[in-house]
Amino acid sequence: MNLYENIQFLKGIGPKRAKALNKLNIKNIADLLTFFPRAHQDRNIILPILSSQFSGHKCIFGKITNAYTKKLSKNLAVFCIDVSDNTGTVTGEFFRKISPYSKYDIFENLRNNLSVGKYVYLYGIQNGIFKFSVEDFEIIDNPQIKPLFFKRLLPVYNLTSGINQKFLLNLMLPVVTEFAKYYPDIVPQNIMPVSEAIYKLHFPNNKQEYELARQTFALQEFFILQLMILIAKNKNGTNYKAQKYQIKKTLLSVFKQNLTFDFTKAQKKAINEIFNDMLSSEVMNRMLMGDVGSGKTVVALSAILLAIENGYQAAIIAPTEILAEQHFLTFGNLLKNLNIKIDLVTSSILKKIKQKDEILNSIATGKTNIIIGTHSVMEDRVKFKNISLVVIDEQHRFGVMQKVSALAKGATPDVLMMTATPIPRGLAMTIYGEIDVSIIDQLPPGRIPIKTTCVTENEAYKKVSAEISKKNQAYIVYPLVDESDKTELKSAVTEAENLSKTVFKNFKVGLLHGKMKPKEKNEVMTKFKNKNFDILISTTVIEVGIDIPDATVMVIEHADRFGLATLHQLRGRVGRSKKQSYCMLVSDSKSKKAKQRLSVMTQTNDGFKIASHDLDMRGPGDFIGTKQHGFPEFKAGNIIKDLKLIELAKEKAAVIIQQDPELKSANNNEIKNFINNNHLNISKIIQVG
Ligand code: ADP
Ligand code: MG
Repeated sequence: MNLYENIQFLKGIGPKRAKALNKLNIKNIADLLTFFPRAHQDRNIILPILSSQFSGHKCIFGKITNAYTKKLSKNLAVFCIDVSDNTGTVTGEFFRKISPYSKYDIFENLRNNLSVGKYVYLYGIQNGIFKFSVEDFEIIDNPQIKPLFFKRLLPVYNLTSGINQKFLLNLMLPVVTEFAKYYPDIVPQNIMPVSEAIYKLHFPNNKQEYELARQTFALQEFFILQLMILIAKNKNGTNYKAQKYQIKKTLLSVFKQNLTFDFTKAQKKAINEIFNDMLSSEVMNRMLMGDVGSGKTVVALSAILLAIENGYQAAIIAPTEILAEQHFLTFGNLLKNLNIKIDLVTSSILKKIKQKDEILNSIATGKTNIIIGTHSVMEDRVKFKNISLVVIDEQHRFGVMQKVSALAKGATPDVLMMTATPIPRGLAMTIYGEIDVSIIDQLPPGRIPIKTTCVTENEAYKKVSAEISKKNQAYIVYPLVDESDKTELKSAVTEAENLSKTVFKNFKVGLLHGKMKPKEKNEVMTKFKNKNFDILISTTVIEVGIDIPDATVMVIEHADRFGLATLHQLRGRVGRSKKQSYCMLVSDSKSKKAKQRLSVMTQTNDGFKIASHDLDMRGPGDFIGTKQHGFPEFKAGNIIKDLKLIELAKEKAAVIIQQDPELKSANNNEIKNFINNNHLNISKIIQVG
């Protein structure tokens, strides 16, 4: 039985459906089994038709005694079924919009299915005593048959176009029943068998059962991660390093003199901690946390210069090409006259044949001192002469696996990770093991706090116009690139076109989104920086690090769609000069939770406070936020509420690794295969502690 078989070969899934499922990250049977519902709808209780509980959603059951259609207006019709049980009768209604010109019989399907004499379960809202708006139904042949979609906790799955709830449900039930037993079950003495846990995560009988199943699967997820961390730790032995540094100040003093400002106290403290780590004989593994704009770059640069004055190479890796290029420019400026060779390594540059060879050669022979780039730096063809320090910028944007492959080239570089989305230290340690943390908890002096408000679109547009007339610039951010996926949301491409023809027709409007080629993105950013555009309409691709001092307004459309951490990062694109800046959040969400979240943004500019709110407000099963924090994603585990399970996983993993440090014994074959099949590469996992 091969769990990693492509789902396309399952019954009922053709190439089209397979492609749609791929969008949900479901590629093989293992993915499908572990595509757990995001919630369950309680359909256990079937109420008598004439029950007194009229409010809210409910389920009823009865026999169809009458079926007919009524036209309510030119555009609206309703299909009705009278349904009876021994307490009374109710009219189930199915409303549909109609076109006065269409001959198409919109109720044909319903009429054929819901005919008089059949038994039916209905889910919907009671509408007065005798009416019931139907949202879902299931017909059964006789009252003794157990329904599929009623009398149970009904799983509710995340969807994408081409995949609806009914399809997934019909697919899941047989797949889970048939294949869950083949899913690896590797934690000694887990709460219940993993196969049972998988079944109950989809189809639990009650909430308690679900919770135990969730913990079972979560423990296995944490167990795997802890095993990998321990294996990596063992492989690396004690973390002694080859490089030795001395503070020579040949470069560092000149660099400090060149700066137009003094380091803040917090920056000095961070630099001290980093230098101490570097001077010690053990490999540095430090996380530098500091809010957007707190000045992490010059701190990193100080560490880099220490490496270079000692004759080593250093690299800084950024999550996007734009950011890497910006660092390239900034570094060039800050280090001019220091006789330091800096090279940029991105996938676009590696495509330029001639330039590529020159750069790769220069890095391999040690002519290049600082390598700035994207994940391309980690490619095998990039060979260093003597790299001793790797800085990972905006660490939260990388996955665990990527962060580390930089280390997998035989060297033992010191590692400095930087992030603007802080995580509580205890949490970081629980997940990663020992990791040192430095915090920059103050902004450089003279910054004017950004004013953040929740406004209507019109108010936001007015502010944009007002600021542009003061020769400033504006960002307008949308959650989507184009409207193909979800039509109810405004998208960057469509709005760029609309706005440049209407409200902002007198201004120059640029467009930036993730589907553009790196080169195009770059051109747009450069143009914006040179003020060829007044307004930049964009998706979150501008999220990190970009520095445009004259941009003073940030409008975020559908703000409720973004996580707090992302909103804070986006807001950090303005307020980069001595001028007052504004962040305007536009949202038409009625949800109380969404409003509460956005109000946090209007109340504080402090990224640490926002991050802790973010963690507090996150409900179970909401893993989007964890992704922002750079944690590995868990399907059942929740790093906020499962700290105890993580500890337990750690203990259990330690027992295994003590006996079999490299998982060579046949007993541990299943674990090893599981790791390999999931492409979790042990040699590439971060070395911590
Ligand atoms: P982030 O921490 O978000 O990466 P940057 O390193 O990009 O922030 O710094 C933001 C801006 O603040 C840059 O223009 C940088 O030159 C400036 N800056 C950094 N440190 C100081 C300081 N001590 N005083 C004044 N300006 C500073
Ligand atoms: Mg930065």
